[in-house]
Amino acid sequence: MSDQSEIVIIGAGAAGVGAGMELEKRGVPFVILEGSGRVGGRAYTDRTSLPYAWDKGCHWMHCADMNPLVAEADRVGAEYLTDARDDWNAVWANGGWADEKSRAATLNAMDAAFEAVDEAGGRGRDVAISEVLPEAGGLAPIVRLWIQLMSSGDPEQVSARGYADYEETNRNWPVKTGYGDLIERLAAGLPVRLNTPVTGIEQHANSIQVTTRSGAIEAKAAIVTASTAVLNAGAIEIGAGPARDLLGVMENVPCGFCEKVAIAFDRDMFGHIGHPSVNVLPQDGSAPINFQFANFGNPMVIGHVAGSVAKELLAEGDAAMVEFAMQRLIAAFGSDIKARMVNAATTDWGSDPFVRGAYSFAKPGCAHLRHEMIEADTGNLAFAGEAFSRQWQATAHGAWASGRDVAGRLVDKFKLAS
Ligand SMILES: Cc1cc2nc3c(=O)[nH]c(=O)nc-3n(C[C@H](O)[C@H](O)[C@H](O)COP(=O)(O)OP(=O)(O)OC[C@H]3O[C@@H](n4cnc5c(N)ncnc54)[C@H](O)[C@@H]3O)c2cc1C
Repeated sequence: MSDQSEIVIIGAGAAGVGAGMELEKRGVPFVILEGSGRVGGRAYTDRTSLPYAWDKGCHWMHCADMNPLVAEADRVGAEYLTDARDDWNAVWANGGWADEKSRAATLNAMDAAFEAVDEAGGRGRDVAISEVLPEAGGLAPIVRLWIQLMSSGDPEQVSARGYADYEETNRNWPVKTGYGDLIERLAAGLPVRLNTPVTGIEQHANSIQVTTRSGAIEAKAAIVTASTAVLNAGAIEIGAGPARDLLGVMENVPCGFCEKVAIAFDRDMFGHIGHPSVNVLPQDGSAPINFQFANFGNPMVIGHVAGSVAKELLAEGDAAMVEFAMQRLIAAFGSDIKARMVNAATTDWGSDPFVRGAYSFAKPGCAHLRHEMIEADTGNLAFAGEAFSRQWQATAHGAWASGRDVAGRLVDKFKLAS
């Protein structure tokens, strides 16, 4: 393979697709090289493992009132829900379902934790989240679960200031037709080469040489959208130059872990709960889980774990992950529930060689380094993706907007044209 493009984009996830859409709009020739066999990256609607489609990665259009993908979803006819419920979380703890008072106490503890992180981060405290969390007593494991789910790291690993950089609007709309499906729709017609892992990139003053297993491509510029976990693992060898120098900074903005277990049932098992989601805290002191019930009316649950809990389960394998979820369902709903299971599926983001984690967070003391990563001028070899979003880190829309913005900047700076 040997050809000429103005820009080579590495990765066809949300950021790569955002970059490609921008270049297409500007009429600049480009190609997207995708290592895996599908478009979407961490946006992936699984249509085959279970009787019902479900999102293995992103599911919610966060900050929906500002999220630029809402307009894109409308344009391509993707469906999403806009009803915001304030009765989201039920709680199963201490061997039973929490009554309204205990449920409110749990939600208050979660709110207090996130407020403390925002407040400390807003004051510039670049310390571990664990250092600023208020005392939560017996509810601490649920607070910990939610810090893990939101950051993908453990509270000891994540900077409060880095976390607080996120511009939260508390409007979260789930994509009914699938967030992965939405990114696929946006990618339709873009020049994507699947199964083309990039192994090396050489940066020269006026050109970029991209090496793949099937040959090399020369371009005037390139945009790398692989996760910081992929880049930190050295999976793409970047030759000497300003882009390689930035890799040392990226080590401080790693990806943590977040995995899902989806279980389909032969009938509705959860409608009577009256809440769309439950946090289950086992009595034996082992790690809790969050379940989301009824994926758009389909009889299924999706369990969520993150941080070191997800990392350990991933190492134990799919069966252990399903068992972890099932034991917690049995605790809350009784052993009969197992007989009603039709099928189960798990994610493996942490071991996927093209992702190697969930989403990025800044380590304590390193919040400013994400800003440095975003602002660094690495010339004709630029980076984009969720880790490079100033206000929407760790999200699909942040990734998409970062790809779009970086592509536009490269075209303007190097006066690339059709
Ligand atoms: C379990 C989970 C739940 C999430 N939930 C939400 C949510 O509800 N809402 C939300 O907004 N966000 C959510 N996210 C985060 C969101 O999915 C990501 O932030 C976003 O999809 C990242 O997009 P990206 O383009 O930056 O990276 P990626 O999606 O990782 O795209 C990078 C692409 O590069 C490819 N690649 C890697 N290495 C190479 C190589 N060597 N050569 C060629 N190609 C390569 C990869 O295959 C991939 O396709 C979730 C993530 C996870 C894991």
